[in-house]
Amino acid sequence: KPNRSSLSSTTFQPISNRNQKFAAHLLPQAIDQTTRMVVFKLLNHAIFDDLNACIFAGKQASVYHATKHDGQEFAVKVFKDRDHNTQGHYRSRRGNFKSNSRKIVKTWAENEMKNLMRLKAAGIRCPTPIVLRLHVVVMEFIGKSGSPAPCLKDANLSVDKMRECYIQMIIVMRNLYQKCKLVHGDLSEYNILYHEGDLHITDVSRSVDLDDPLSLDLLYWDCIHVSGFFKKNGVEVIAISYLFNFVVD
Ligand code: ADP
Ligand code: MN
Repeated sequence: KPNRSSLSSTTFQPISNRNQKFAAHLLPQAIDQTTRMVVFKLLNHAIFDDLNACIFAGKQASVYHATKHDGQEFAVKVFKDRDHNTQGHYRSRRGNFKSNSRKIVKTWAENEMKNLMRLKAAGIRCPTPIVLRLHVVVMEFIGKSGSPAPCLKDANLSVDKMRECYIQMIIVMRNLYQKCKLVHGDLSEYNILYHEGDLHITDVSRSVDLDDPLSLDLLYWDCIHVSGFFKKNGVEVIAISYLFNFVVD
């Protein structure tokens, strides 16, 4: 799991429309050249006006908090190649390696955008996707005043509330399968945000269609993870096989 404490060591400086002309020396080292270009395009198109802070730095992606002048908040998810070094340059100087990894991160971003749209269309709570540009997805910010909603693991809920969440979770899993024709594939207490009493599903870049040969295996693992988490938190859970059958039947 990505290390949340690594955030403090991130040398991130805000980027905004106001300081754009000084960009050359104001821009953070942590963002690579292509990502800067994307961020400037998003600023120029007034998708948002300020990129304020890095709220998460993981292996697969970094997430930034952005705002419009009117206060509207956004999450900007920047996918990154695992073989990237921290300066954002590829270690290998061979052209094909570089373009391959660019393609992969772009595919992750495309999947995230597409799958979030499918979830939204099915009425499943998730961040509303807003703009996709190369390996960057702009989406609705789940949280308030720059503080992201806690993930289910950190939400500190009573057993009663956990039980409610478990029921909500089972229904989400079924709708995901039956209405979106998707299996999340990484459904854990880290990828569910708890906001204003409800669960919000995130991190759908590696979710798969039902015709994927691995879909049922992934669903089985999702069932195991979800059951395990709620059981650990004092909820009486149904058997894994019941949960699995409830989702697929
Ligand atoms: P990864 O693929 O690196 O695991 P996630 O999509 O799971 O990325 O996001 C990592 C973290 O970033 C989340 O746990 C949450 O804290 C924050 N985050 C992601 N998307 C949003 C969002 N739309 N609103 C608020 N916070 C978000
Ligand atoms: Mn995640």
